[in-house]
Amino acid sequence: KEVLIEVKDLSVQYTSEGKEIKAVNNISFQVNKGETLGIVGETGAGKTTTALAIMRLIQTPPGKIRNGSVQFDGKDLLQEKESVLRKVRGNKISMIFQDPMTSLNPVYTVGDQIAEVIWLHEKVSKTEARKKAGSILELVGIPAERGSEYPHEFSGGMKQRVGIAIALACNPQLLIADEPTTALDVTIQAQVLRLMTNLKEKLNTSMILITHDLGVVSEVCDKVAIMYAGEIVEYGTLEEIFRNPSHPYTQGLFNSIPNMNKKVRRLTPIVGLMPDPTEIPSGCSFHPRCPKAMKECKSMKPGNIQLNGEHKVSCHLFDETVVRGRVETNEPS
Ligand code: SF4
Repeated sequence: KEVLIEVKDLSVQYTSEGKEIKAVNNISFQVNKGETLGIVGETGAGKTTTALAIMRLIQTPPGKIRNGSVQFDGKDLLQEKESVLRKVRGNKISMIFQDPMTSLNPVYTVGDQIAEVIWLHEKVSKTEARKKAGSILELVGIPAERGSEYPHEFSGGMKQRVGIAIALACNPQLLIADEPTTALDVTIQAQVLRLMTNLKEKLNTSMILITHDLGVVSEVCDKVAIMYAGEIVEYGTLEEIFRNPSHPYTQGLFNSIPNMNKKVRRLTPIVGLMPDPTEIPSGCSFHPRCPKAMKECKSMKPGNIQLNGEHKVSCHLFDETVVRGRVETNEPS
């Protein structure tokens, strides 16, 4: 499959009250054409910062992209001029936000707002742009006539559909959706997810879906990256992650969601909290919360270990040298 975007060794830091906060630390991943990557983790894991860094929308200061590259369309987006970036944003890469009101202007009709995006990005007349806006509304399941209404006349779920329509209006190659269903109730969530899956198939758009919800991931994603404290701790295809979650943090995420198939439906939440970003623990940053932590985990940072296929994990339990060392010295856990 053809690679659409490749993020390499991306690090983002913030400065707050003189302290340096590593929000994203050396992460790498790629998204192929037509595929959806789910970036999963708790609040504060660095998911949104990753998305903003890709679009180079990190506010500087207090934020700063420290290193890395984002290869897209033959360019490194982190090295390009702002004028080039402006053309990429909303043209080749667009974003859907958690709160659809962020992308909607209350004083214009929904149809006009979509038409405006089309008119700005394509060389078409205003009448043609309006006509096209109608068909995009239909595509997201809203009758074209409703284009003459204002955002406040739509329900939450409908507004999010409009948000998706605006994001799609310029035929982007990549759609970044940041918790697009979190603010919606469960039934509407399912409808919006179904819509996104259908659109992905119909339009072959690639997507990065940011979420804390593994249920959402299972509906939409092809690949999954699990983030913890600014790092990707596990990566794989949907099947690899769901069949064989390997990192203790990923296992913890699975144990803390209700599973209809399990007879015992007792939930085991992960103990403790995500570390304060100004005080990321030494060694493996998950060690204070990890039920399988070993002595080495406090002092040694785990490398990225390749399991089968595309599956990778950052955990000493899968590092042969660490495991062999423990057996030879008969080290207790
Ligand atoms: Fe747990 Fe150690 Fe693996 Fe980190 S490296 S996840 S602390 S076992």
